Parts: sequence; C-alpha cells; structure tokens
Amino acid sequence: MILTYKIKHGRDFSEELRKAKKIAKFAIQTHSLSSKDVKNFGLKSMISNQILRKYSRSNTVKSAKSVKLAIPNQGIKVDRDAKTISVPCLKLSLRYEFPDNFDKINQIEVGEDYTYVSVSIPELELVKADKWIGVDRNTVGHIAVVSDPESGKVVKLGKSAFHIHHKYKNLRKGFQKKGKYGKVKQIKDRESRIVKDINHKVSRKIVDTARELDRGIKLEDLTGIRNGKNTAKSFRYAKNSWSFYQLQTQIEYKAKLPGVEVAYVDPAYTSKSCSRCGLIGDRNKKSFKCLCGHVDHADANAGFNIAKRPCIDRLHTDRDVCKGTTDSPKTALA
Ligand SMILES: [Zn+2]
Repeated sequence: MILTYKIKHGRDFSEELRKAKKIAKFAIQTHSLSSKDVKNFGLKSMISNQILRKYSRSNTVKSAKSVKLAIPNQGIKVDRDAKTISVPCLKLSLRYEFPDNFDKINQIEVGEDYTYVSVSIPELELVKADKWIGVDRNTVGHIAVVSDPESGKVVKLGKSAFHIHHKYKNLRKGFQKKGKYGKVKQIKDRESRIVKDINHKVSRKIVDTARELDRGIKLEDLTGIRNGKNTAKSFRYAKNSWSFYQLQTQIEYKAKLPGVEVAYVDPAYTSKSCSRCGLIGDRNKKSFKCLCGHVDHADANAGFNIAKRPCIDRLHTDRDVCKGTTDSPKTALA
C-alpha cells in the first residue's frame, strides 16, 4: 500500500520550481523523454527526468499547473535512527514524524511549502473474519452506528454531520435566493471538507473498533440502491450518497493495512426487521419495538441485523469472501 505524507520544508525553491514548470510545458508540447533536450533549463537531470516522464507521457495532464520537483528513490537517503530524509541534489534534509513501518520511499515531491513523501507500507495479510460488527449508515442522527452481536456493544458515531448538513443547506439556500452563486459554491466546498474530515474520523473509529474486538466489518451494499431500486431507504441514501460512498471507501482503505475484512450484505429491511426474532417490527424514528418484546435504538437494531446477515458477493469474483459466515466457526488465519 502506498501512502503520502506531507512535511513542511521551510525553504525557498521558487527558482527551481519555475524551471520545473518550464520543463513541464516543454514536455507537454514536445513529448520529449530525453534529458539532453532540457539541459539548458538548468535543473538537476535527475529531477528534470522525472518531470519529463510525468508530463511527456500523460494524455490527461494538459497544462503545467503546480509542477513539483520530483525526486526518485535513487536520489533520496533515509536515516531511520535520526528519522531524517535527505535529498542531496537539493541539499534538503527533513525530519519525519510519521511511523517507521515503511519498506521504502518511492518518491519525494517538493512544492512551494510542502514536501510530499510517498512511501510503500507492507499490508498485513487479510484475516478471514468469523465474527462481524455491523455498520448502519444514516442521514439523520449519527452517520454510523456500529453493533457487535457477540458482546452487545453499540458505538454511535458522527452525530455532528447531520447538524452541519442542515446548517450549510440553509446558508446555501439564502445565498442562492440572492443569486450569489460564488458563495454557494464556496459553502458547498466548505461543507464537503468538513464532512470528509468527519468521515475520516468515523472510519478510523470503525476500523479500530473492529481490530479491538477482532471482527470483520459488514456494511450494506448500496449498489442496487444507486441503480434505482425504489425503497424509502433508497431515497434517503440517494440524497446523501456521495458522503456514504466516501465513508465506505475510507473504511475499505483503512481496513486494508491491518488486514481487517470488509464485506457487504443485502440492505432490504435491515432497519425494519427485529434483530432478535427476525420478524418485521415497529420502527418509529429512532426507536424500534417488536412484538417479541425486543426494544432497541433503531440504528443499533439495524446494525445488529447487518452484522448477522450473510454477506453477498458484491464483485461476483471472490466467492471466498463469504466463507467466514458459515455456522461452524473458523479459526482466523494468522
Ligand atoms: Zn422480535
């Protein structure tokens, strides 16, 4: 897995960055890959080579915006005892605070203020889960409620997201009426940033909870809903789908490193069925009641249902994904 860390360098590289931009423009125009062609720009050949490679070959990069000084692995020295990285050709030395568990540094990119350090980190082997936590995602109240049927534990996360959405929706409406579309866009962007940050924290907590309890993570498969299966829940999801998918992507991403399994279940009736007896119960806003006597927080009940459901083969490729849910408990692979 590749991660990028950001470190402030506190140096002035504006001269080098100007040269880099010229080389990038040249590369886009000529598709040249020869460092001889750009020698006269006066940048170290190791760096100009990287820029040439990035901009000459790309069909997507059409303009030389925010060109950085890219240094390949060979031009980087790491001192793990002193926790420093140095780039001799730029006489740059940096202390890093990020964890020392990386295999190697792939590349460093130097921008105006920051250095972007790309590292390879070994992933732990995926542990096939035999017990699961269920994560119920919602637009109202907490954005995620985690339920663990084994211990009965319930964790409610991301309460502020709902209020933030409302606050910014009203702000947006106000500016929209006045025709201030620049402001509308600005507020939209701000909301996205805040929600992204909340999703990061919530996904972190979900993956950490799964690790602590030694469980896999089950989520509802929302692909059907996205394709227009029309249920009450689908409507609520559709309204907020980008945020749900963002949370899902972040959970999958964060679960990968420690080898926590993520699986998907059919979302039908997860919020209406009783997690104790399986019958359709009475759900009223956030409370759930069943004739069997079971009373619960509606999202927690949904989370329990999600955790207990058999997982579905979302990608139709890896049927082994479901092995962990058979009745006979399986020993987790070390
Ligand atoms: Zn019941």
